Amino acid sequence: MNLTFDNKVALVTGAGRGIGREIALTLAKEGVTVICVSQSESSCGSAAEEINAAGGKAVARAVDVGDKVAVAKACEELLAEFGNIDILVNNAGITRDNLLFRMSEEDWEDVISTNLNSVFYWVKGLARPMTRKRFGRVINITSVSGIMGNAGQTNYSSAKAGMIGFTKSLARELASRSVTVNAVAPGFIKTDMTSKLADAALDMILPQIPLKRMGEAADIANMVTYLASEEANYITGQVFTVDGGMAM
Ligand code: NAP
Repeated sequence: MNLTFDNKVALVTGAGRGIGREIALTLAKEGVTVICVSQSESSCGSAAEEINAAGGKAVARAVDVGDKVAVAKACEELLAEFGNIDILVNNAGITRDNLLFRMSEEDWEDVISTNLNSVFYWVKGLARPMTRKRFGRVINITSVSGIMGNAGQTNYSSAKAGMIGFTKSLARELASRSVTVNAVAPGFIKTDMTSKLADAALDMILPQIPLKRMGEAADIANMVTYLASEEANYITGQVFTVDGGMAM
């Protein structure tokens, strides 16, 4: 299927590694100009370099997505530079897993701030010009943990469930301006985040996945790219699980 992206600009958070990097590369292959955001300069810088070396268009910005002042400043500067940002992919995320009785307040706050507060900050900074242009795509990367829950992840599943509520409410607010807002909920995808899982944990997880394997970052990037395209203009307020059938 040929997807339509007419001179579009996308900002992808967490674009330095894993799922976000694959989303950035896939959008760039479709001709989208991509602003790669990650925490470290080297990580988003290398993603942007890879895109530019392949003939695409990308710039890199190191921004801590949980820092509201830094995000507001980045939004202001990037809007001045690019005029409009059409596609916002809120992908940056972290885990700090522990059972509730052992979870520190810091681990709770860091996870809520990086995964959930960040979505509010970026949307506040970038959505108004989308409404004026009568085109926009907000795509939030949540998780099956936010749908099913997961022992040891009260912080992470709360943040991811919060992103789903945010997605549905914002979709209702922005629909009249042709700005769509959707969420993608990955299952277990091979990235640095899941490489920490012990073999014993994987032995427990794999039998719960009907397709009996972990997913690839490209599986998520393909769904995000479709949702970002003009062809997806009648889809809003939805959560798409890409999880090998786990959360059926
Ligand atoms: P990853 O490999 O750990 O990469 C995370 C990316 O987010 C990195 O580029 C990192 O920046 C960036 N990041 C983290 N904290 C940040 C901060 N405070 N400010 C700016 N950037 C920050 O993760 P992933 O597995 O690709 O996951 C991507 C998203 O998918 C996350 O939201 C995650 O919760 C979600 N997800 C993943 C899975 C999975 O199985 N992998 C499953 C469900 C949902 P640096 O590169 O600079 O460190």
